[in-house]
Amino acid sequence: MQTKLFIGGEFVEAADGATIDVLDPHDGSLLARVAEAKSEDVDRAVAAATAAKAGWARMAAADRGRLLLRLADAIEADIETLALLETRDTGHPIRDTRNLDVPRTAATFRYFGGMADKFQGSVIPVEAGFLDYVTPEPLGVVGQIVPWNFPVMFCSWKMGPALAAGNTVVMKPAELTPMSALRIGELMNEVGFPAGVVNIVPGYGATAGQRIVEHPGIAKVSFTGSSDVGKGVARQAADTLKQVHLELGGKGANIVFADANLVAAVNGTAFGIFHNQGQACIAASRLIIHESVAEEFLERFTTLARSIKLGDPKEPTTEMGPLTAVMHRDRVLSYIDIAVQEGGEILTGGKAPSDPSLAGGCYVEPTVVRVDPGARVASEEVFGPFMTVHTFSTDEEALAIANSVDYGLGGGLWTKDLTRAHKAARELHAGMVWINSYKRVNPGSPFGGMGSSGYGREMGFEAMREYSESKAVWVNIDAALPAFYPRG
Ligand code: NAD
Repeated sequence: MQTKLFIGGEFVEAADGATIDVLDPHDGSLLARVAEAKSEDVDRAVAAATAAKAGWARMAAADRGRLLLRLADAIEADIETLALLETRDTGHPIRDTRNLDVPRTAATFRYFGGMADKFQGSVIPVEAGFLDYVTPEPLGVVGQIVPWNFPVMFCSWKMGPALAAGNTVVMKPAELTPMSALRIGELMNEVGFPAGVVNIVPGYGATAGQRIVEHPGIAKVSFTGSSDVGKGVARQAADTLKQVHLELGGKGANIVFADANLVAAVNGTAFGIFHNQGQACIAASRLIIHESVAEEFLERFTTLARSIKLGDPKEPTTEMGPLTAVMHRDRVLSYIDIAVQEGGEILTGGKAPSDPSLAGGCYVEPTVVRVDPGARVASEEVFGPFMTVHTFSTDEEALAIANSVDYGLGGGLWTKDLTRAHKAARELHAGMVWINSYKRVNPGSPFGGMGSSGYGREMGFEAMREYSESKAVWVNIDAALPAFYPRG
């Protein structure tokens, strides 16, 4: 297990020798003691990224792409190590890290490896005698700050487009889950990335994160995390006129209409809310269901929820692991208390599991609460295996409930009626809408939110544009320039 900071192609201790204890959320045991980056370490990382900047930006795009493709292959070859590391660090069941997180990480690096030499400029038909060509230029050094819920995948979402577009990177993983990012750093060295192109500095938000946001040598900060911290990042970045990209929280509306295929909707909703213990910004955290099918749906859904196998995430048969940290588990449990105080009816779950073998871990039962849509638990992000239920009688009412929160990230619609589906998709205040499915992601499809869920997009061409800016070059080929100050 790599435990040092990755700066300038080398693994180094923190300048002051500080470390962070990284815990296994299954039993609270010490997984690793990782070097803790502080301000001066971030400065070293920015210096390394600055030194690497010109060489990386001017390298043939196809060669940058080839390195990303090699990295994707190396990640696939390393799948067992990376999946286990991610499972122990985050609590995601191994069946998910092995089948989803790590393969998706490789696929995203591969997508952007292929994109590197296809992201091109244009020629503008301007006035006669001039050639005007526009090239996408890299921004320089970009800072990337990520949360703890999908650490390995977020390496690819953030680094993939930034590197393909010719930027160098200083990334800060979350203090809780730095292990897989450091392993990615090792693989980058193995496949031949030039030193300093990527630098990885685990540390706390108030120190290392803050320094990334304020550092004058960083051109853009791409931040994924909570809305409150995101607002602070945007405010602080203004001091150095840094560009900002914010991927923030969510409160996914998942609307089940009366004509939905209920079996499919039950399964899709369960994946939407319970995958990764509900620790997903796009989680289907609010079920908005037509009153005529609510009882049948909830009967099936709560039966399924009760059957989900909680346990040691390292076991291949485990379907739900622990939450990623004790503090976070306590926060989720406190929201369950709030739900009860707000008059919520707990339909299933509602506590830590009673199984003594899970007592040392951060487990919470899959929880479903019927509650008023105006309740706090129905508008604030809980970020756990916690779903609220609201019923409606008309489509307008369903959409009004869906759009009653400040967030606008992901949302689902379950119906067989094509017109209703497209109409509702148009009305839903969300950056991503899934019809008769939930929580699909693909490296080519733009990912991001509206309102309090932030601005800017990961993935696809949008992500390449996030990490570049246009330069227009005017060439006078044979235009006669009129004298602006005619004399004599
Ligand atoms: P958080 O905002 O507390 O922390 C996110 C990251 O920011 C961490 O690396 C943290 O160390 C750093 N940070 C904290 N304070 C900082 C500061 N003052 N300056 C700079 N960096 C700072 O969020 P979290 O609890 O780690 O993650 C959960 C949140 O992330 C949820 O709200 C979730 O919805 C959101 N999220 C959003 C997306 C998305 O794509 N929209 C994806 C995943 C998670």
